[in-house]
Amino acid sequence: MIQVQLEEVRSQIKETAYKVNRNPEDITLIAVSKTYPASVIEEAIANGCMDFGENHVQELCQKIESINTPVKWHLIGHLQTNKVKYIIGKTELIHSLDSLRLAEEIEKQSAKKGIITRVLVEVNVAEEASKYGFKIEEVIEVMKQLNEMSHIKVEGLMTVAPFVENPEENRTIFRELYRLSVDIQKQKFDNISTNILSMGMSNDYKIAIEEGATMVRVGSAIFGNRDYSKHH
Ligand SMILES: *Cc1c(COP(=O)(O)O)cnc(C)c1O
Repeated sequence: MIQVQLEEVRSQIKETAYKVNRNPEDITLIAVSKTYPASVIEEAIANGCMDFGENHVQELCQKIESINTPVKWHLIGHLQTNKVKYIIGKTELIHSLDSLRLAEEIEKQSAKKGIITRVLVEVNVAEEASKYGFKIEEVIEVMKQLNEMSHIKVEGLMTVAPFVENPEENRTIFRELYRLSVDIQKQKFDNISTNILSMGMSNDYKIAIEEGATMVRVGSAIFGNRDYSKHH
């Protein structure tokens, strides 16, 4: 079942990319495996998935332990400062840098290990009270500060759009994140890149690709509906 759904998502990504004259290879599919067991991840790996997204540190650490194949792990959920020490050095990319306090802790723990941690700055474009992330108008100032942190490498931006019936409703959100990335580029910070735009989930990844997403985070369209009753 995963194979079929994975093929479907991949072909939609391709089709959408061609539609807007983009190269599908510039779009990375992150398979969001949160709440799914390691066996499901193994099945996705067997079908060519290399990038997985998790939103809890503990679950991520358990899965890293149980999966022997060297895949790329993406932390996509809110990261508490006191948990940073458990994941530094284990992630391909942290998508959810949402406060300067968190940045300082990532800087500190990365320096301790002598590594540079790659992150995306999370932006709450829709300014939903229930969501994490900086406001659009804060981001340039935040980048100035992150630019000074030598053990953090900002690779781009991430946003979580609201759940909407009609994904078209999220188009302006994706467009605003793209525009913000262009504005940041113009500042020519030496330690800040905006190459990655992580936006779009099962419901709206096609719209996000049309608006410039380079990473889409897709869970249920690949793995089916999640069962939260077994968690937390
Ligand atoms: C769960 C989650 C996703 C994937 O959601 P689906 O609707 O299942 O595709 C993407 N991004 C974040 C931040 C998530 O928490």
